[in-house]
Amino acid sequence: MSKREMYKQSFVEALKKEKLKFTNQRLSIFEEVLYGKKHRECEEILSSLAKKNINVSRATVYRTLDILVKYDLIRKMDIGDGRIRYEGKIDDPHHHDHMICVESGKIIEFVSDEIEKIQDKIAEEHGYKIIKHIHQLFVKPIKK
Ligand SMILES: [Zn+2]
Repeated sequence: MSKREMYKQSFVEALKKEKLKFTNQRLSIFEEVLYGKKHRECEEILSSLAKKNINVSRATVYRTLDILVKYDLIRKMDIGDGRIRYEGKIDDPHHHDHMICVESGKIIEFVSDEIEKIQDKIAEEHGYKIIKHIHQLFVKPIKK
């Protein structure tokens, strides 16, 4: 089974648990988040689908995104600007964090094993283990 088929299967199962019918429209929403541009808002996902002549209602997109988040297939991002963005999660085994440029709004992904280790150590010192973390750095370009 290809990766794409496997992901689709996970989506089919999530829909089943929610007692929702599998439709090609719902699948397009999932694949749009998974394989399209990252860190997009619902509206952007909607218009990108419309450009491909896939017409889904706003309500269906919102509903489907919620289910995808619930079943850990995609990630919901909140960078505190009142806009909710989405990115694939199922295809991203390596956890990454985000850097947000306050001047351009650009979102940069980064991975740091060092930070991960330090966080684990701090949690452990307090008698805990980390199950999830959200790490966001707000940055601006260094002017030379
Ligand atoms: Zn990301």
